[in-house]
Amino acid sequence: MQLLWLRSDLRVHDNTALNAAMAKGPTVALFLLSPAQWQRHDDAGCKVDFWLRNLVELEKALGKLNVPLLIRQADTWDKAPQVLLKLCEELKIEAVHANEEYGVNESSRDQAVRQALEKADIGWHSHLDQLLFPPGSVLTKSGQYFQVYSQFRKVCYARLHTSIPQPQRLHKAQPPLQISSDAVPDQVKGFDTPSQALRELWPAGEAEARRRLDQFSDEQIHYYLSERDFPAKPGTSQLSAYLAAGVISPRQCLHAALNSNQGEFESGNEGSVTWINELLWREFYKHTLVGYPRVSRHRAFRLETDALRWRNAPRDLEAWQQGRTGIPIIDAAMRQLLETGWMHNRLRMVVAMFLTKNLLIDWREGERFFMRHLIDGDLAANNGGWQWSSSTGTDSAPYFRIFNPLSQSEKFDPEGRFIKQWLPELAGLNKKEVHNPSAAGGLFGVQGYPQPIVDLSASRTRALDAFKNLPHRQVSQEH
Ligand code: FAD
Repeated sequence: MQLLWLRSDLRVHDNTALNAAMAKGPTVALFLLSPAQWQRHDDAGCKVDFWLRNLVELEKALGKLNVPLLIRQADTWDKAPQVLLKLCEELKIEAVHANEEYGVNESSRDQAVRQALEKADIGWHSHLDQLLFPPGSVLTKSGQYFQVYSQFRKVCYARLHTSIPQPQRLHKAQPPLQISSDAVPDQVKGFDTPSQALRELWPAGEAEARRRLDQFSDEQIHYYLSERDFPAKPGTSQLSAYLAAGVISPRQCLHAALNSNQGEFESGNEGSVTWINELLWREFYKHTLVGYPRVSRHRAFRLETDALRWRNAPRDLEAWQQGRTGIPIIDAAMRQLLETGWMHNRLRMVVAMFLTKNLLIDWREGERFFMRHLIDGDLAANNGGWQWSSSTGTDSAPYFRIFNPLSQSEKFDPEGRFIKQWLPELAGLNKKEVHNPSAAGGLFGVQGYPQPIVDLSASRTRALDAFKNLPHRQVSQEH
């Protein structure tokens, strides 16, 4: 008997470990509930709920293959070896199959499980699945992990020219086993259940992920380059939650994009090319996590920025978290996050720059808050995005290029449609005033909306000074 250990790969289609297990023989699937570990990782209640809802769908899909799904508890991952070993002994498992996960804690968990299994003469097979290229396979000429995205992408392109990772076909059903599936809990203690409205924005299951991918690649991908920066438009795929939980695979996404562009990834339709580049950003940040494990421990990639004197300003932090900064684009974006578990990419950059530059608050505060609220929270992409915005990371924004949130607002939400959707109290303002109600002199029905908590120009200078005075320290190979 084979055991498939499911983690962030909650699907049956194009699931490498599932196919490998079923090819070897009768298979049983397992999912571990690890609430204390999830708390330590700041996983959001809406994300845990999304996992559970997807597990319900997955249990049905596995049922069609006659693969039972078992649910066990390992409160923290240090309990995983013991829980797996016990189950393997009960079911006389020959080998465990899992798709690789990245991050320091994930790797040490898998290492410990592997050792425990091998001591008991049980096989362990881990598979590349979450990424197109295995970490460590895309390196500089001197054998280092890349620090610059465009150079990383160039090597990825060269690889794709030689061979394109192919999605696998679904395995045929196995004969039924005498083991029944466990019920998936509808809640895990310690995690808030999200509102019904939030749940409805993110229906669970592979069919929904596939529907989004098909609709995006049929109708929207060609406009992606010109529309992706406008938060009032549905210009992006909204697939991140599904990719993060593994309800869809990066290979399925890559193929849909290639099909929209006659098989091209470097030329042809600019929308398709740009979208594939975003899949490669996802790839880049996961490779960075493995190559520079300090970022997995919430340490800055640029070590010299450890000396930055971040402000301890709990009231400003709270105003940012609650969408009460008095800067409409920031507040609208934060309210989108709180209500939907998701935020548009352009706005993630804008609010992150505002927190780390205008408020000069440590990026780790923002990283943690995002993780606690995002349905697509992913250590690599979230850390990468925060370190990009705070100029502490690989290939990050130069510290002197600070976004002005008002110009960003005027450029990317010119009619103020997005702002008004999330801040109905500003509905009466015209498209000029809506970006900066305090400049409208309080004459136009902005009662109840706060004054800006910070002067944008003075705080910009403060941030420039803080970064300018950093001692130079180039030790980027340090882990
Ligand atoms: P699309 O534009 O349709 O892109 C397709 C897919 O490519 C996304 O689903 C995602 O998997 C990947 N992708 C796109 N942009 C990026 C990027 N910049 N970095 C890495 N992968 C990318 N993305 C997450 O998945 N989880 C996070 O926790 C996360 N935190 C972020 C925090 C900050 C501060 C910033 C600036 C960005 C963050 N991102 C994160 C990246 C990006 O904002 C989201 O992936 C994107 O907004 C998801 O929307 P979409 O699915 O419509 O993306």
